[in-house]
Formats: sequence, C-alpha cells, structure tokens
Amino acid sequence: MNEARYVAVGEELGIAEEYLGDPSTTYIENGKIHAAIAGNLTIDQEKRKILIEGSHEKKRKIPKKGDIITGFVYSIRKSSVGVKIKTVNNLVAVDVGLIGNIHVSNVSKSYVEKLDDIFDKNDLIRARVVRINGKEFQISTSDDQFGVIKASCKFCGHEMQRKGNNQIVCDFCNNHQRKEMANDYGSIEEILSF
Ligand SMILES: [Zn+2]
Repeated sequence: MNEARYVAVGEELGIAEEYLGDPSTTYIENGKIHAAIAGNLTIDQEKRKILIEGSHEKKRKIPKKGDIITGFVYSIRKSSVGVKIKTVNNLVAVDVGLIGNIHVSNVSKSYVEKLDDIFDKNDLIRARVVRINGKEFQISTSDDQFGVIKASCKFCGHEMQRKGNNQIVCDFCNNHQRKEMANDYGSIEEILSF
C-alpha cells in the first residue's frame, strides 16, 4: 500500500489495462479508471488495485448526550446492566464495540431491587444517553418510552408478549416474567437486521 490522496468524482486514476478498479468506488471510461465517489485514493501496487475510501467511513455514529440508542443486554450485574449499542437515533451504528451502561438508579422512576428480575440477556432495549465516560455511555431507561422493546423467552426462544404494565408472557411455554418495558413494547418496527 502507498499513496492516499483525496480525489473528486470523475477524476482519472489510472489505466484499466494496468490496474484493477474497485467496482463499487470506481468506474471505467475509455480505458481509464475514474473515481465514482469522492474520498481517499488507495492504490495497492502489489495487487494493482485501485479503490477509494469514501467518507462514509468517517460517519460512524458515536452517540452524544441526549441521543436515543437501542442495543442488546449482554451483562447483568448487581448495580448495572451492560448493553451493546446497535443503533443511534435509529441509524445503525458501525460496530465499533460501543457499550452502554444502565446504572440501577437510571432504570426506572420506581424503586428497582434486582436487575435480573427485570432484564435478561439479549433483551432489546431503547434508552437515552445521559453521560459519557470515555468509551462507555451511561444510558437511562427511566422514562415511559424507554426500556425493553423486544424480548425472547429464555426457555424456548419465542417472542414474549406484553401482559399488563410490567409482565410479559410466552404464549408457547407459558413462562411469565417481570420486565421493565417501554410503553410501545412489542409494536416495534425499528428492529433492523444487523
Ligand atoms: Zn417460552
């Protein structure tokens, strides 16, 4: 690898006989390779390959205070719940290992005694970012629109249905559980295929 300079759309980059243009970021016209997107030109001299690193690489979504995130619960400790962040303001976050942390005091407006009573691993939650410490995002589910938005039965894997304010039930195996739910639990269309 060598040479990384910024190129504009349409700029001539090389001769098609000599180089292989990356099909998603370059195009060929009259035997010449041109830039199909703006970005940093990268030429792999060994493989004779030309590609452009587009600016989408720089648009990684890193949450800010006040943003709404969704993510999956991956750890439940005594006083906090760890969440792998998957979307930021409904945009898929590039998977760079962003971790959200819900402190027990930020779970609910009402008193919470045991976190593993109301969260399970792999619950999908929606939360607001309230504080940022380095790479860790303190998030809160303490509002009606926040909390678990989708959960699967921990025994049989079927999707759990809401029952009342703080219960979910598995229609398949009749497992009942408490859950700290968002007010629109179960009606979510924002779930993306990751
Ligand atoms: Zn079940």
